[in-house]
Order: sequence, then C-alpha cells, then structure tokens
Amino acid sequence: MSFDFDPLMLKRLAQAKSVVVFTGAGVSQESGIPTFRDALTGLWKNFDPNELATLEAFDRQPEIVWGWYEFRRAQLLQCAPNPAHLAIAQLQALQPNVHVVTQNVDDLHERAGSSDVIHLHGSIFQTRCRNCHAPFEYTQTATSVIDAHRASPPPSCPECGGPIRPGVVWFGEMLPEHEWSRAVEVIEQCDVLLSVGTSSVVYPAAELPFTASENGACVIQINPQTTSLDVVADYNLHGKAGEVLTALVSSI
Ligand code: NAD
Ligand code: ZN
Repeated sequence: MSFDFDPLMLKRLAQAKSVVVFTGAGVSQESGIPTFRDALTGLWKNFDPNELATLEAFDRQPEIVWGWYEFRRAQLLQCAPNPAHLAIAQLQALQPNVHVVTQNVDDLHERAGSSDVIHLHGSIFQTRCRNCHAPFEYTQTATSVIDAHRASPPPSCPECGGPIRPGVVWFGEMLPEHEWSRAVEVIEQCDVLLSVGTSSVVYPAAELPFTASENGACVIQINPQTTSLDVVADYNLHGKAGEVLTALVSSI
C-alpha cells in the first residue's frame, strides 16, 4: 500500500533527537489480539471489560477473572508480533533515542526486538499475590485457547495463602510509579511523538500525547478511527498500524 506522507512530517521524524512511540491495544490488533472495545466472546460474552478488569471483580469472582487472563495469555502465546511491532523495533534500530511507551500488557514489542519498553499498565505474564504482593512465578498451564476457555481458580500464594493475581493495572488502580515517571520524562523531552492504536480514553495514560504536544513535540497519530487526539495531533494518519508504520519507517 502506498502513502503520500507530508515531506515536512518525514523530515521532522528523521531529524528528531528524541522520539516516543506511544502504543495501545490497536498496535496488537493485527496480531489477532482483540482491543478492549471489541466485544468479549464465549464465557465472558456477557461481561463488560471495564467491569472485568477491576480488583472488585477479581474479589467477587476470582475464577472468572483469572480464567479470562488464562485465556488471554494462551491467546498471546499463539500470536506473533505484526508489521507494526516490527516497524517500531526497526525505527529503534535506525535512530537513537526512540522510546516505546505502551499501555499494552502483552510482550509483542519485546518479541519484535524492541528494547527497554515502558509498560504503563504492567504485564499479563507477571503475577503476584493479591494480599501480600509477593511476586509469584507462574507458568501458564493452558497453552491452547480452547483449553483456556473456562473459569479457573487462581493459584494460592505460598507466603500467605492469598489468591494470585495478574500483574496488570486494573481500572481504579495506581500506575507503577517508576514506569510512570520514566514515561513522563521521555515524553517531556521528545521532539516527535507517534501515538499508535490507542483510543485515548484511559487516563492518566491518555494525557501523555497531550503533554508532548504542550511541550512542543510534533504529534503524529496512527489510528483507523478518529479519537480525542485528532484535534491536537499535527498529523492524523488514518489507517492500520502495520500498513502505515511499515510505509512510514521505510520512507525516512
Ligand atoms: P482501546 O481498545 O481503547 O482502543 C484501541 C484503539 O485502537 C481504537 O482507537 C481503535 O480504533 C484502534 N485500532 C484498532 N485496530 C487498529 C489497527 N489495526 N491499527 C491501529 N489502530 C487500531 O485500547 P487502549 O487505548 O490501549 O486502552 C484500553 C486499555 O486496554 C489499555 O489500558 C490496555 O492496557 C488494555 N488492553 C491491552 C491489550 C494488549 O495488551 N494487547 C489488549 C486489550 C486491552
Ligand atoms: Zn501472599
């Protein structure tokens, strides 16, 4: 697919001293990972992800929530990075100071070769005790999506017996302090911010592209849909992340 990119935009990207690639669920969509706004299926079809991804839901129905994460981990193990993840890793290899800040809890950026990925919302593969917070080394048992499509009780913490929870940030929870401050630092310093595949509605992460813009960075958004960032972005590239990023990185 060919794109007619603005030459000034390409120049700003190629000459940037520091770039942040800020990603959301849309960057993993072409790998077959549903975004948050996609309807849930099967066992979870009657649940709203906004309600499933909370500590209250886990306390109320741990086996339903843990089962959902078992399913999502199994799904991820069967997926591979897509051209969007690969183009971002290629940009990091081409230019110095390209930082990846993601809201995604998957590991597809790392698997594509990106280094030092800042995970604002944690990782689905890291687990810890819900009560005493002790880290817990968990090996996924269900590797097939079919096997994982069921309610499943979480393991128990060897320290205190509490239930083990996924190491992700749920709605209403604080973001990890260290990741957040690193993200703010790179965002405040960048000359160009690429916002890729995020609906820009989950706060406080959603405010970061706006912060970059206020600090004078050129904001380039890649999303097939319009979002609240459209009015602030210097460039809105409406298309799929894999197609647009592949063309963009090969044009600079
Ligand atoms: P979101 O689901 O709210 O929005 C996804 C955005 O991606 C939408 O604006 C959509 O138009 C866009 N999109 C869809 N397909 C695309 C494509 N092929 N290329 C580019 N853009 C595309 O996701 P969000 O903004 O990341 O926020 C929701 C929360 O969901 C986040 O906190 C995140 O942690 C969590 N989440 C993560 C994953 C994951 O890790 N892969 C998956 C689902 C949800
Ligand atoms: Zn414990």
